[in-house]
Amino acid sequence: MIVAEAKNLTEIGKTIAPYGRILVLGCGTCVTVCGAGGEREVALLHDALRLMDMKAGNGKHVFLECTLKRQCDPEFLDVLEEKAANVDAVLSLGCGIGVQAVAERLPDLPVLPGVNTSFLGMAKEWGVWDERCAACGDCRLDETAGICPITRCTKGILNGPCAGTKNGRCEVSKEMDCAWVLIYQRLENMRQLETMRRYYPPRNFRAIPRPKRVLSKINAAGGGHE
Ligand code: SF4
Ligand code: SF4
Repeated sequence: MIVAEAKNLTEIGKTIAPYGRILVLGCGTCVTVCGAGGEREVALLHDALRLMDMKAGNGKHVFLECTLKRQCDPEFLDVLEEKAANVDAVLSLGCGIGVQAVAERLPDLPVLPGVNTSFLGMAKEWGVWDERCAACGDCRLDETAGICPITRCTKGILNGPCAGTKNGRCEVSKEMDCAWVLIYQRLENMRQLETMRRYYPPRNFRAIPRPKRVLSKINAAGGGHE
């Protein structure tokens, strides 16, 4: 799923400053699961923004709230015609795709991001997500035992381990398993070790986001809009 983190309240305050009536728009899918932009976060942010506005003493803003089932799916955007009819801007807590889908649907309205889209991740435990895919556009999981070398190897290398792996750990971080040791072990279990002999030509990593193993607990701490 797509993992996102709530933007800082001060940053959001600056982005919404020019607008009066603002629709805080949540998304009921990935950002709900990772606790960055679902119904609960919309309510929390709505209250936090109102408080911030009152503290500033200007009472300038009016905040409305709504959470769609999925912002990235046109099927669920029809309701925006009514929900965004009288607002000056939409503050979307959807991922970057959701923000763009909403912006396409509302061509005359500013649609502002309320979260930072971080990565495609898998839940490791409650409140912790692990990057597992960089959407590289050329998936090799069939040849790497279902373990992504681009996101799980710190160097993103495609032809076996670098010289630094030690006791199954990555030389860059002792906390991390070496992805290529994991790949080797799984291939061995599956009796497919010959796959290790294949050579993959170099890839243009300029076209691929840098590998990033980020474990995020921020969202799970309760909205993160601090
Ligand atoms: S190889 Fe890795 S980064 Fe590329 S599509 Fe497959 S899982 Fe995603
Ligand atoms: S030790 Fe393993 S995971 Fe770390 S950079 Fe080298 S091959 Fe990649």
